[in-house]
Amino acid sequence: MPVEALFGISEPGESRVKQVCKGRAVGIDLGTTNSLVAVVQAGQPVCLRQDGSALLPSVVHYAADGSVIVGQRARALAFGAPRDTIASVKRFMGRGPDDAEATRALTPYRFATGPTALPVVRFSVAGAREVTPMEISAEILRVLKARAEAELGGELDGVVITVPAYFDDGQRQATRDAGRLAGLEVMRLLNEPTAAALAYGLDKQAEGTFAVFDLGGGTFDISILKLEGGVFEVKSTGGDSALGGDDFDRAVAGHFLQAMGLPGDAGGDASVARAVLDAARRAKEALTTESETTVSVALPSGEPWQGGLSRAELDHLVRPVLERCGPPVRRAIRDAGIAAEGLSGVILVGGATRMPMVRRFVADLFGKEPLADIDPDQVVALGAAVQADLLASGGRGDVVLMDVVPLSLGLEMMGGVAEKLIHRNTTVPCGAVQTFTTYADNQTGFDLHVVQGERELVADCRSLARFKLGGIPPMTAGMARLKVTFTVDADGILSVAAREEHTGQEAAIRVKPSYGLTDDEVERMIRDSFDHANDDMGARLLTVERVEADRILGATRAALASSADLLVDDEGKAIEAAMAALELAKSGTNHLAIRGAIQSLDEVSKELARRRMNAALEQNVRGQALDLVEKKVTST
Ligand code: ADP
Ligand code: MG
Repeated sequence: MPVEALFGISEPGESRVKQVCKGRAVGIDLGTTNSLVAVVQAGQPVCLRQDGSALLPSVVHYAADGSVIVGQRARALAFGAPRDTIASVKRFMGRGPDDAEATRALTPYRFATGPTALPVVRFSVAGAREVTPMEISAEILRVLKARAEAELGGELDGVVITVPAYFDDGQRQATRDAGRLAGLEVMRLLNEPTAAALAYGLDKQAEGTFAVFDLGGGTFDISILKLEGGVFEVKSTGGDSALGGDDFDRAVAGHFLQAMGLPGDAGGDASVARAVLDAARRAKEALTTESETTVSVALPSGEPWQGGLSRAELDHLVRPVLERCGPPVRRAIRDAGIAAEGLSGVILVGGATRMPMVRRFVADLFGKEPLADIDPDQVVALGAAVQADLLASGGRGDVVLMDVVPLSLGLEMMGGVAEKLIHRNTTVPCGAVQTFTTYADNQTGFDLHVVQGERELVADCRSLARFKLGGIPPMTAGMARLKVTFTVDADGILSVAAREEHTGQEAAIRVKPSYGLTDDEVERMIRDSFDHANDDMGARLLTVERVEADRILGATRAALASSADLLVDDEGKAIEAAMAALELAKSGTNHLAIRGAIQSLDEVSKELARRRMNAALEQNVRGQALDLVEKKVTST
């Protein structure tokens, strides 16, 4: 039970000191479709290439002999060994087994079902291996690490990895874990849209609000960023996690199949379907620079088929898919509380925004030409490199970001009530300190339960972590002073520390959120808290009063048992009656009635309490009356 709210601390920078490092630091865009690594050389960020390409396909193949293949070669193997070749693993980051269950129908993967230490998705792959999304991502990171180390000639000192702005604690933690597994010192996680803005040097502008339009292979993200005094704040995010360049490929492939006289699934011939999809992607990409292109594909009969596609035809085919970007954009602008005209600029991110028709669509949607001078494939990695360089040089790297805590963080109180220490939308890094005490006499430890959510009852919030603080000598209820500190660092990761002030006993935990909260869940939890605000408050008040009633009933019962000799006249009966009334009120649901009954019991037992205290003091202070003792205390 909180006895006093002490003070709130918010000391930006404190948790970042350790992140400053020297020397070789790189930025990594760990993408759903492609990943890149970039570094600042001679003051300019550049993407590092391997075999002529900056893009590393985010595909990992697990071979039966135990070897692991990443990138272009893995992508080529996906067709023959779809279950052992994991693509788009980013979609599974920070997800629990239940989330995998939901997507099972959509993916060719096998998921492990046995018991597990961590509540995370595990893929069953060749060689009887089970791998988590963090391990798979770590394979991608290892390749980029090796690429960077070869280029820079030595071990990396630190990296900045980008994540979508909407990633929750669990997804961010999973990304950090992936970095750690790859042997990287992750200096910080950076929001992808913020990285793009940094690559354009927008942080050097006075201020403004920017939209970042990111259309990748399989995802569409829209973010509205506000820049003020060199600090970016994510005002709103939105998008569609099942919309991207891959959908354009499918639209074009459907068109080709029709021209071949084949049904939409290529007559069930997976190899033809795959070849057509590949041809569609090549045609789409070619039409970004050409106005016409031809493709050839082997038909099921083995005969070659040749077809052509013009840019006008492509525009027509992908238009319906592209239109789906409209509603999330309008919503994000609305959520940010601005008008489209109020935007200072629009930044293009993602390979699919190279397409001329996408650029035109964006220009129409926002009513202004988007910024597109920097390669949209590379812009996120380049911005991450800029940030890494700032951090590594001990520069002002820590001022360019501002994120918020997406859901309130708190502790479970007696009776299952959630006490919020850090409120939703507090800017990180942030912290809060609050002091708690024991509920029962002779309690020798605290069970701390850290929860996340907007609701008043723990049962309606998300459990983040539990830990214990023990080793406290038996004390009267209310004597212990447990100081609990919540700190959220710049990456949005929570640490909780507890210290009992009398004994100095300490316990701390770095909260590893139970992986697996989906965006929808975050949204639902916030929505629910509004929907239930009234009954929640009622439930909370009721619980608090019931807990208090139990405490008083217990204490009074104990007093009656030990001090029967101190009772006068009908006092005992009056107290019993007040107790019975309180029991009755407690079984009801009116918190005001319980409060009233508590006050009545207090009233009738006040004199007894006074006599008991006097008696106790008499023993200690050898016969001095309470009044005298009180005087003595106040006069010294
Ligand atoms: P992600 O952020 O998901 O990793 P990317 O930003 O790398 O994805 O975008 C990948 C998508 O961009 C793919 O659908 C790819 O076909 C598309 N793409 C890449 N280059 C071009 C191009 N020149 N023209 C059209 N689409 C392109
Ligand atoms: Mg991307």
